[in-house]
Amino acid sequence: MANISDKMNEALNKQIGEELESAYIYLGMANWFEERTLVKLADWFDNQAKEEFAHAMKFKTHILERGGKVHYPMLREQKQDWSNIMEILEATLAHEQFITGKISELYELAQEIKEYSTLPLLLWFIEEQVEEEDNAMALIDRYKGYKNDFNFDHHVVREEAQE
Ligand code: MG
Repeated sequence: MANISDKMNEALNKQIGEELESAYIYLGMANWFEERTLVKLADWFDNQAKEEFAHAMKFKTHILERGGKVHYPMLREQKQDWSNIMEILEATLAHEQFITGKISELYELAQEIKEYSTLPLLLWFIEEQVEEEDNAMALIDRYKGYKNDFNFDHHVVREEAQE
């Protein structure tokens, strides 16, 4: 018998898809930078993709720990081309805001159907999203200070993720 309800299981499974799709989006962005030899930005987005994969696995572990079932959905092809750096940075922030909304919906659902065991995991993600949005905003702010893309790239630093 699963400890997790079908409803929560299904909702978390959907979120695994969102996290994997996030990784897919950032991998495309990393390529765009790599093609232009903006290597630090390429690294930043590659690492971001890895983090998204880790998020998906965090949800997977939780589902399995609670006796649920994991199903990996098919990933859709994502955008692969942009006209400039700012377009990518803004798309990144918008995407993280979208994910924050998804996490909030999960939190509301867990409360509504009394899935209290899922709340600590979702609180972790709520905190994580504060960081994700802050990282994206920081990149946008810093980019505004540079006239040259390579100069900006040279100064991109990534805070090491906790955990
Ligand atoms: Mg994520």
